Amino acid sequence: MKTLGIIGGMSPESTVSYYQIINRETNRRLGANSSADIVMHSVNFETVAAMQRAGDWQGAGMMLAQSARKLESMGAQALVLAANTMHKVAPAIEAAVGIPLIHVVDVTAAAVKAAGLHKVALLGTRFTMSDGFYTDRMLGLGVETVVPSESEQHEIHRVIFEELCRNRFTEAAKRDYLRVIARLQNEGAQGVIFGCTEIGLLLKPAECPLPVFDSAEIHALAAVDFALS
Ligand code: GLU
Repeated sequence: MKTLGIIGGMSPESTVSYYQIINRETNRRLGANSSADIVMHSVNFETVAAMQRAGDWQGAGMMLAQSARKLESMGAQALVLAANTMHKVAPAIEAAVGIPLIHVVDVTAAAVKAAGLHKVALLGTRFTMSDGFYTDRMLGLGVETVVPSESEQHEIHRVIFEELCRNRFTEAAKRDYLRVIARLQNEGAQGVIFGCTEIGLLLKPAECPLPVFDSAEIHALAAVDFALS
C-alpha cells in the first residue's frame, strides 16, 4: 500500500470526510482491520481564507507548497489537497515536490464522463465557479460547466464560508442550493458537481433533482485507487 499525503484543514469539516472515506474504502477493499497509510498536515483555515479574500494566491501557493514538502519528507507518495478552491495554486504545489498531486478536477471530470454526461452544473466557492482555473480545466477534459448567476454565486459562497465550513447546516441553505440546481437543470445541466468539499455535508444526492458528482467523495476514492495500485 502506498502512503497518501493529505493537505487538509480547508475546511477541517470536509477533511474529516476525506479521512473517513479513504479509510472505509480501504477497509472495504482489503478487509480485516485494514486502513489507509496516511500522513496529514492540517492548516489553519482562517489563514488560507484570509489569503483568498486578499487575493494573495502567491502567498497561499507558497504556504501549501511548504505543506506538500513536509508531507513528502514524511514519506507521502502522492498528495491529496482536500479542497477544490486551493487547486488554483496546484502548479505551485506540484513544482515544490517530486510526487504526484491527485488533481480534483481531473478525477471529477473523469467521473462525469464515465456517467456519459458532458454538461453539468458547478457549485463551489466563487473562486471555483468564476476564476477559470476549474472550469477551463474541466472544459479541456471534455466537460462543459454551467455556473450560477452572480447573485446566486454570492449566496452559495457566503453559505460555504459562514455556515458549512463552521459546521452549520440550515434548511434555508438547503432550499437555496436546491433552487439553484433546479434552475441550472433548466439551463441544460445533466448533472451537478459539488465542487466544494463541504456541500456533500449539506445535501444528499437523493435530495437533488440531478445526478450528483461529489468532488470530496470522488477525490477520496481516487486517492484509494492510487494507494492500492
Ligand atoms: N473546501 C472548499 C472547497 O472545496 C472551500 C474552502 C476553501 O475555500 O478552501 O473549495
